[in-house]
Amino acid sequence: MAYIEPAPIKDKENPLESMMSRFDAAARLLGITEEMYHILKVPARQVIVGLPITMDSGEIKVFEGYRVIHSNILGPAKGGIRFDPGVHLDEVRALAAWMTWKCAVVDIPYGGAKGGIACNPREMSVGEMERLMRQYTVAMLDVFGPDKDIPAPDMGTGPREMAWLMDEYSKAKGMTVNSVVTGKPLVLGGSLGRTEATGRGVTVAALSAMDKLRMNPYRTSAAIQGFGNVGMHAADLLQERGVTVQAISDISGGYYNDRGIDITAAMTYRSANNGSLEGFNGAERISNEELLSLPVDVLVPAAKEDVINQDNAASIQARMIVEGANGPTSASADEIINGKGILVVPDILANAGGVTVSYFEWVQNRIGYKWNLDRINRRADRIMKDAFDRVFETSKKYQVSMRLAAYIVAIDKVASTYKYRGGY
Ligand code: NAD
Repeated sequence: MAYIEPAPIKDKENPLESMMSRFDAAARLLGITEEMYHILKVPARQVIVGLPITMDSGEIKVFEGYRVIHSNILGPAKGGIRFDPGVHLDEVRALAAWMTWKCAVVDIPYGGAKGGIACNPREMSVGEMERLMRQYTVAMLDVFGPDKDIPAPDMGTGPREMAWLMDEYSKAKGMTVNSVVTGKPLVLGGSLGRTEATGRGVTVAALSAMDKLRMNPYRTSAAIQGFGNVGMHAADLLQERGVTVQAISDISGGYYNDRGIDITAAMTYRSANNGSLEGFNGAERISNEELLSLPVDVLVPAAKEDVINQDNAASIQARMIVEGANGPTSASADEIINGKGILVVPDILANAGGVTVSYFEWVQNRIGYKWNLDRINRRADRIMKDAFDRVFETSKKYQVSMRLAAYIVAIDKVASTYKYRGGY
């Protein structure tokens, strides 16, 4: 198939390029037509806006904002907004496609989108950030909508920014529309359970994989790279389910204890220490690189992209990798990892618990009701477990890795929806 990206990302180890190469492989295996391949690759809508903002100094600066709807064939598009100096259209476009596959693999009725503004939040005041977010919302009034495109936080944005977006959108519509955005503060209609949702989904994915490999969680060890939102909650919940978490890490380095780290103590330490594990003494110090090659049963990369690559893949000893982060394994490492017989639960499946509970937030906003935490957790766990089983069965059917199987499940769902809807 000969698809030519208008401005290709050339770096082969780029996580987005890696994602696209797996998409290509799955599309080939599935045998979709050349026409369908093009339909799936080309985004449905791409919007670029100029945003003039009065800075605190009185100077007017113009920022560039983007929103790409990759697909809305399954339902309204869903995806975060990032504030980062490196944001550009290519990146947003690839991340939007990533969201399409992620939503399809867990079977929630959303398409994929992503947005961003090229800016540096670390150099901006709260007032400047607020003006920028509001201006971006106004510029996207005909793009966003509870039935069209529902943004969420991403790198550099959080509940505060989502509250501004909801307020600006609501003012323009003359009524409160909280379902236009997810990841809002609880008081504005945010959902219980959203904070832990991704780590919780990682745990469900890991336990499901253990079940398939007939591993007893009480006799299983884990190493978790990254002790932020995803890694910390995954560590906590895995430990709660009997797994011995032997190693954790963050940007300050790794922490190892073969008898198991007390995760509650590590979480308490981290929150009293400005979000960092630096100085945590319940374990011995190791490097982040050493953590990846520990002889544990389960490895959870939950920090950043591309940490498992062709340079270190051969040294990995874990029996399974459950990808909490987006794109932690580069495409060039896939073959080495598969060759070693390591089971990989891929990012688009393993970390989809977050978007699942975002979907619940939207559902609750639309029905004007609040579910309790127990209901949210039960429903999210079921969605994750069903998705895991679907992908596992597909990997058996096609005799491929779980990663390719996840793309096959997602592409098949989107492609058959196109076929039934027709109209082109
Ligand atoms: P976070 O900022 O809360 O935590 C990131 C953690 O990784 C921090 O502990 C940080 O110190 C650590 N870290 C950063 N660089 C590191 C390095 N080189 N080595 C070891 N540790 C390092 O972020 P998060 O929300 O937990 O997200 C982590 C990953 O999961 C990202 O790839 C993100 O895109 C992905 N993800 C997050 C969610 C979510 O709901 N938060 C959902 C899906 C995917």
